[in-house]
Amino acid sequence: MKILVINAGSSSLKYQLIDMETEQVAAKGLCERIGIDGSKLTHKLPGHDDVVIESPMPDHNEAIRLVLEALADKKHGAVKSMNEIGAVGHRVVHSGEDFTESVLLTDEVLQICKRNTDLAPLHQPANVMGIEACKAVMPKVPQVLVFDTAFHSTMPKYAYMYGLPYEYYEKYKVRRYGFHGTSHKFVSGEAARFLKKDIKSLKIVTCHLGNGSSISAVDGGKCIDTSMGFTPLEGVPMGTRCGDIDPSVVEYLMNKTGMDVHATLNTLNKKSGMLGLSGISSDFRDLCAAEEKGDERAKLALDVFGYTVKRFVGAYAAAMNGLDVLVFTAGVGENTESVRSRVAGNMEILGIKLDESKNRNGQRGIIREISTPDSRVRVLIVPTNEELVIARETKEIVEKKK
Ligand code: AMP
Repeated sequence: MKILVINAGSSSLKYQLIDMETEQVAAKGLCERIGIDGSKLTHKLPGHDDVVIESPMPDHNEAIRLVLEALADKKHGAVKSMNEIGAVGHRVVHSGEDFTESVLLTDEVLQICKRNTDLAPLHQPANVMGIEACKAVMPKVPQVLVFDTAFHSTMPKYAYMYGLPYEYYEKYKVRRYGFHGTSHKFVSGEAARFLKKDIKSLKIVTCHLGNGSSISAVDGGKCIDTSMGFTPLEGVPMGTRCGDIDPSVVEYLMNKTGMDVHATLNTLNKKSGMLGLSGISSDFRDLCAAEEKGDERAKLALDVFGYTVKRFVGAYAAAMNGLDVLVFTAGVGENTESVRSRVAGNMEILGIKLDESKNRNGQRGIIREISTPDSRVRVLIVPTNEELVIARETKEIVEKKK
């Protein structure tokens, strides 16, 4: 079976066609500037040059139609006929409290997703557009929704409640939800497989460190806490997001700067974190290069980041009353050794002994261990693959239905 994985944004749509026999990518690509002048589709077939198709895409329906055309093209396609696409798996940002796992799309499910747009007003409407476009263009193909929040639905109530009046939870669903769930699920499962251990016997902290970052405590395969909250703004400072701050800063800044609440939140989301601290860039490669040249603010930004991630690792070891495995994943977690050093260095108190030589040298793109042989906690780099999780869950749900 081949599964089409869709990640729809408001003006973009990423796709991967995954052959489930081999779990390899048969084709992938990106539609950009949907609904804007200059729309284009970049289609990638392994072993071939990229194909760029410039064609108007007034809406997501047209984008999906062009994707299907590219996938079935005689020259650069990956299927002979559309019948080879057994199902579509959608990345959907928010499940609210309505779904605790991936679900097969029905009219009722779609209604619930639309109702939850309040909880993720920037992303959920785009996800819904992607679902509706697939429904319109390929009505007979089963579709599965895989939620970014669902893996965190196992958190105990004391971990997801904020210290706010209870009625805000009851009336408005204000609570911690957590994000990057597919990634935390995938890398914790891969870590257990790599170590040849039953995940039920392991206490794992997964550090998904990328442009957006979140840390999760995974006890016996279940998430019991995570650093992102009601929105992805909470937790560690990120590329441009501030992470945890005292909420009173918002009013104070509004009074001092004259910014309204919208502009202030925009600053916290888009101009803070690594970018705000360093004044240079949100990109960790730029920060590492600047630090090497002696830039103090780049060093400070990296220090703040490493220190905050470290604090979460310690907190989650306490929350689980133990730690067996520490996992680094995503763009920064997989590639930035100086961040891993900052987080996992000087952590002997928790039984973590980082092997600096293994941390700094080694092949990228594969699972590898970077702790010393006598480290009680095994420290691993595990490349994430959110599309593959979506494809696996889609296959499982579609096959269960048969
Ligand atoms: P992500 O959001 O997971 O795509 O991660 C993006 C972040 O990962 C950016 O800040 C990049 O600087 C960082 N990153 C990606 N690739 C590398 C690399 N090869 N070396 C260092 N950092 C990288």
